[in-house]
Amino acid sequence: MKITNVEVYKFFSPKRKTDDAWGKWPIAKPLSLYEDFMKEKDFDILDLVAGACVVKITAEDGTYGLGYTGLYRESASFLEECLKPHLMGMDAFEIEYAWDIMYKSCCAYGRTGLLIHAVSAIDMALWDLYGKAVGQPVYQLLGGKVRDKIKAYATGPDFKLYKSLGYKAAKIPMPYGAMHGKEGMKKNIEAIAGVKEIMGDDAEIMLDCWMSWDTDYTVRIAKELEKYNVRWVEEPTMPDDYDGYKRCKEILNGHGILVAGGEHEFTRWGARKLIDLKCVDILQCDVCYAGGISELRKINAYAEANGVKLIPHSHNLPTYHFSISSKNSPFAETLLDPNVPRLFTGEPQIENGFIDVPDRPGFGYELNMDYGAFYKYEDGKYLYDYKFRTNLKDASLWNVGIPNETNTYVKGNE
Ligand SMILES: [Mg+2]
Repeated sequence: MKITNVEVYKFFSPKRKTDDAWGKWPIAKPLSLYEDFMKEKDFDILDLVAGACVVKITAEDGTYGLGYTGLYRESASFLEECLKPHLMGMDAFEIEYAWDIMYKSCCAYGRTGLLIHAVSAIDMALWDLYGKAVGQPVYQLLGGKVRDKIKAYATGPDFKLYKSLGYKAAKIPMPYGAMHGKEGMKKNIEAIAGVKEIMGDDAEIMLDCWMSWDTDYTVRIAKELEKYNVRWVEEPTMPDDYDGYKRCKEILNGHGILVAGGEHEFTRWGARKLIDLKCVDILQCDVCYAGGISELRKINAYAEANGVKLIPHSHNLPTYHFSISSKNSPFAETLLDPNVPRLFTGEPQIENGFIDVPDRPGFGYELNMDYGAFYKYEDGKYLYDYKFRTNLKDASLWNVGIPNETNTYVKGNE
């Protein structure tokens, strides 16, 4: 069945005001090193790029699939200009062939980063389309369920909420990094102790360092972490610092703590490096970043053969279809924020900390037209027929970050 249309959308997510629970709990980032970027409340690095790039691929019988890559909406231009021309007229079911064509056509300039984000979105859309065309959920196409439900952990700062919902595991965004010194370390420990108090002694906690610790910091904090039943420390170093990763793993393993990483790694080749160099105990390659469902399957096979679990970063239905059909992926992330509109409708039920994956064809989701604003990107232009929805759950909590018509970003492409 031929692909007859590929549509690309850029979504601009609502911009959070900083006076709710999430705004009060910033996460340290690598750029927090520099004074201009220290005041997270005034300048959130991710605000510059936040949103998503969505692709809708339609086959000749009208069946369509949806895929996306988020936080970094700029992959839309790669998708439109570099990849779409290869897809038009291709057999929609030849997903493996499509992946190889996309990768090899762009390998001179896009083996990682935004290009692979775009490949991920397309791969996801093709799996969604395939499932819808044959009337099966994607997990069935991946070999069927290996578990009825997936054990979940909650990511975010609202630990009372997670406890009340029955979660027994939560990930804490670390508000301070190595650049914040001794005082920041003290505050990190206080934050961890506070979470343990809310979640209870038996709860597992994970620490997301978002590339902002280093080996020196890890040595100094590791012993302190022992008493808090920390399951893993996530991305303690910059993604390219493989030696640093390895050293952090050795240090933390000595205190009974695992190292997780790979959220910002790409393809099977990037994942292989993390495994071969013994950088991680748990891989976290993301379906939206690493190359889509097709690539996660390859990464997972290599990880399992090396005794490394793949617990993908991200909280979306494609991830859950993957995890429920993968023995080596027994745990999944959820991001609960009642004030955030979701990019897709059809989100799964989460009860007592377990995710129930729906059995609808494909991934079982549709675009949520109430999510922020979006522009269709076509032939190098951002079209003006965007939707601007304001019926957010509580609009007063948000500054809706949408470029207006005087924004040169839009105007320049008129
Ligand atoms: Mg992370």
